[in-house]
Amino acid sequence: MSYKLGEVILSRDTIARRVKELASEIVADNGTDNGLVVVGILTGASFFLTDLVRELPEELDARIDFMSVASYGDGTKTSGVVRIFHDLKSSIEGKNVIIVEDIVDTGLTLSHLLDILKSRKPASLKVCVLLDKYERRQTEVKVDYCGFRIPDKFVVGYGLDCAGKWRHLKDIKYVVEE
Ligand code: 5GP
Repeated sequence: MSYKLGEVILSRDTIARRVKELASEIVADNGTDNGLVVVGILTGASFFLTDLVRELPEELDARIDFMSVASYGDGTKTSGVVRIFHDLKSSIEGKNVIIVEDIVDTGLTLSHLLDILKSRKPASLKVCVLLDKYERRQTEVKVDYCGFRIPDKFVVGYGLDCAGKWRHLKDIKYVVEE
């Protein structure tokens, strides 16, 4: 099966405005006195994370770390398998941690990650996702900060790919079958 780009669902300006708001929500909740470890989930969330952390105030001690996990194969369907390819560089014990993910779909990836990170005893653990495909949830996951709720259609751009393609797009677009 082959795919082509469809219409824009979220433009770069809409994304940028919402990312600023999310940063403000995070600061309003967490303050700037305690540090924050921002854990980005590679590769999809990397664009979102770099934009988000640059909206955080200078006085907040924000550290960045990454994990690489995969729950998808080469197409647009979940494999149901979550594998860790790359782990955090630093300990999160006693730290305030926020996981930054591109999209929550079935919730399997995030719920697996939350279990792993909770066992490392952070002081707090929150979740920030850019996109939420809430209709597809198979397991309950508490999302503390959500950019946009979107319908159950495959999207690419702003870090999200389809079998490695279209990650670099500035806008988020639908993918349609050719
Ligand atoms: P979940 O475990 O919640 O089903 O899946 C989360 C992961 O699925 C995301 O990190 C992302 O890699 C992938 N995913 C789910 N929906 C989409 C989508 O519409 N577009 C892209 N590019 N990836 C998706």
